[in-house]
Amino acid sequence: MRPLDVNVTWDDLTPAEQAEGIRKVPRMMERARLQLLEAVPFLSAFIMKIEFHPVKSNDPDDQTMMTDRYLRVYSHPVIMYKWTTEQIMGIVLHEIKHVAHGHFDRARQRNLKCWNIAGDVEINQDVIADGFELPSDAWLPVTIQCPEKKLAEFYYDEMIWPYPKGNTKKGCPIAKQKKKKPGKKKPPEKKKRKPKKKGPQKVWKVGDKVTTPTGMKGTVISVSGPDDNQDVTIMPGAANVIGA
Ligand SMILES: [Zn+2]
Repeated sequence: MRPLDVNVTWDDLTPAEQAEGIRKVPRMMERARLQLLEAVPFLSAFIMKIEFHPVKSNDPDDQTMMTDRYLRVYSHPVIMYKWTTEQIMGIVLHEIKHVAHGHFDRARQRNLKCWNIAGDVEINQDVIADGFELPSDAWLPVTIQCPEKKLAEFYYDEMIWPYPKGNTKKGCPIAKQKKKKPGKKKPPEKKKRKPKKKGPQKVWKVGDKVTTPTGMKGTVISVSGPDDNQDVTIMPGAANVIGA
């Protein structure tokens, strides 16, 4: 088997390696579930709730592990060539903590890409303090020159982001870029019109593209409930999903 490589992608694998990943990763997920059950039994309600869904996608952003608010955890077969078994266990715990810490509801109106990283910083230090391993590129307070034991809200506002290059200001650079754009155009009349558009909240339909508060991009595959309280099921890269 090829040596572990944090930068390896699905397209780098041979057909035999891809087949091996598809075959072995679901088993690795179930093994991680049992090991976590033994190591952190107080999280058993979350651990047993996880549904593991293998995902095969050529989008580099999807070649990782992700969760939605219902603990449907999507794992890409390439992860077995990127992370050790111990690191995969740490990442499963990481996904549980995204849900246990309420990151989906706490996102509010924040930029989701930045919020996901701020959330990662909040929970990764806990995962390591609990004695688990994480991949070497995991986001930690030291990575962003911030103190430990703070919440994602703090990190979102206080971290100095490593990008764009040369950035020295605190706070999400993406959110700031978006705020600057309307200020440059100065369209006062257009701004006044905005409050009049008090339409209902977004009504999701099957096929809509969506990004979750943890940064997972996907497609709406089912919708139930009333328009103002929808229960939406999302599948990352729906066309590339394999398995049940
Ligand atoms: Zn995360």
